[in-house]
Amino acid sequence: MSTTPSPFLFVAGQPGIDFLNTAYAPGGVLTETIGDGRALLDWMVGAGLLDEGAAAALARRFGRKALDAAAQDARDLREWARTWLAAWRANPGRDYGDEIAVLNKLLARESRSHELVAVKRRFELLERPHFSDEHALVPQIALQIARIFVEEDPSLLKACAGADCTLWFMDRTKAHRRMFCSATACGNRAKVAAFRRRAQRATTA
Ligand SMILES: [Zn+2]
Repeated sequence: MSTTPSPFLFVAGQPGIDFLNTAYAPGGVLTETIGDGRALLDWMVGAGLLDEGAAAALARRFGRKALDAAAQDARDLREWARTWLAAWRANPGRDYGDEIAVLNKLLARESRSHELVAVKRRFELLERPHFSDEHALVPQIALQIARIFVEEDPSLLKACAGADCTLWFMDRTKAHRRMFCSATACGNRAKVAAFRRRAQRATTA
């Protein structure tokens, strides 16, 4: 078993936005967490889009080269989606016909089956994605991005206020005052910096 800590951050409260956060730059140094196909599958497992058994089977079925190409497609989708989401946040009412057409092309490749199961006298509908080939992986992520536009309020899609932090998140707090990706990371750093500034002012006053 690997003891390497996971490089993935799930702080956004929405898988499509967690996907944007697969590249981040703490202190200005870029960390790319989906640099190859295996990492892409691992991220999809972490995000709940695949289970581990399915990911292992797909890794065997598609092979490294095809998966690495899918990871490149995923990185391209990420930066494209980031631009669109930033525009949507600033201007939700605009006509996004071109962007919608691009996303729909990907969604057309997405396919899944459903299965009704009984769990402790209740029913649940299980969804299982199908992967005819490696090009069906990225559409699963595109579906999560599409959900942002349908389900989320653009004014609550926020970028972390931490210095140098590039992470995005959905503000699900009641008062809508969430400012940081994580209170323990950026929140604390910001507090410490504010404290230092106050201390500085006090000594120079
Ligand atoms: Zn942050």
